[in-house]
Amino acid sequence: MPVCEIISVGTELLLGEILNTNARFLSLELAALGISVLRQTTVGDNPQRLAQALKDALSRSDIVITSGGLGPTADDITKEVCCQVMGFELIVDEEILTLLEQFFASRGIKMPHSNKKQALVPLGGTVFRNKNGTAPGIACEKDAKCVILLPGPPRELNPMFSESIRPFLSKYTNGVILSHTVRTFGIGESAMAELAEDLLNSENPTVAPYAKDGEALLRVTACAQTAEQVESLCAPVLKSLLERLSPYVYGVDVNSLQQKVVELLTEKKLKVALAESCTAGYTAKRLTEIAGASKVFECGIIAYSNEIKIKLLNVSPDTLKEYGAVSEQTAIEMAKGARSAGGADIGVGITGIAGPEGDGSDMPAGLSFIALADGDTVRVEKIETGKPLDREYNRYYTASRALNMIRLYAVNF
Ligand code: AMP
Ligand code: MG
Repeated sequence: MPVCEIISVGTELLLGEILNTNARFLSLELAALGISVLRQTTVGDNPQRLAQALKDALSRSDIVITSGGLGPTADDITKEVCCQVMGFELIVDEEILTLLEQFFASRGIKMPHSNKKQALVPLGGTVFRNKNGTAPGIACEKDAKCVILLPGPPRELNPMFSESIRPFLSKYTNGVILSHTVRTFGIGESAMAELAEDLLNSENPTVAPYAKDGEALLRVTACAQTAEQVESLCAPVLKSLLERLSPYVYGVDVNSLQQKVVELLTEKKLKVALAESCTAGYTAKRLTEIAGASKVFECGIIAYSNEIKIKLLNVSPDTLKEYGAVSEQTAIEMAKGARSAGGADIGVGITGIAGPEGDGSDMPAGLSFIALADGDTVRVEKIETGKPLDREYNRYYTASRALNMIRLYAVNF
């Protein structure tokens, strides 16, 4: 299999002004294709240092992918430097020039002279159209080495990779590589890995565990001549994993917990109303990220203060006085209040301490209660994240737990 390096170009990266999300995206994509990434390098918009970085990378690797520096301004130099290093001549691509002119005309602007340089392509190179911007992607292949130049903005680079670069790279990989991701909730990464231990050493497919945002995932990747062969290699392993991890698996190849929740609620024709205190709309935000959420999401009430819990959710002042705002009892009343305010099938109440400070009592930050009420029954969960100082994690994870409670309710409905 070929080995690859990534060079991120842009002085703004070195200054820390933007996060290098392109390197992460490309590394994930290349790993999924079975192409090993040996190094990631970041260089500023400087021709000498970029040339040196390219030469170094080409001396070690078969494929080099760059991001950035393909814009129209004088500091965008990646294409020129690459052609110089690899000995390619730049010529005007008339088709791209026309596309560029049309791009500006459609916006009612005259094309700035500087943009013309984006129509320059290496003679003998491969050009990838950019449907989301003006800089085309480019591949230069010579002496069994390949340099691929991609535009910097992620909203241009990501679709270009999926549409053009992945198919282009298939000639560098042996056959087809595909992977499936098993997503679990409620089990830690190491406990999950233990349940799948014997499979983690298999070679085709490979099974790799990883943890993300309080969830544990397993990626099953296989390589074969055809997609059908890949699928038949993966199938028994996936089946075995699903059997072993069944209480925790919420989906295979689903994008997120919230996506699964919206799918299930839609299927079961259930509508949910939320009352959120410590998560303050985080659960609602995640649910409504999913297109079609309006079919299943009735309302979200952010009830931060006790007064609003009483006024909008009908939480009893006695409950608040006797048990406190962060309690099972308050969570239950919030869930019931949300359900009736929204006229929904289920109501969910979330109350807790996000941290890093506690609430003055002996309860730790990271503690929360989530209740789910459906008109007949009520269930409550007590959560302790064990990360009192991590406010963001506590809010995110508590919202995840609420989503998972909704999911389990819908699964069994
Ligand atoms: P470019 O003109 O091709 O150099 O890139 C322009 C813009 O793309 C930059 O201002 C950033 O907003 C974005 N960008 C460039 N490189 C990266 C990177 N490695 N990760 C994320 N965004 C990037
Ligand atoms: Mg730049």
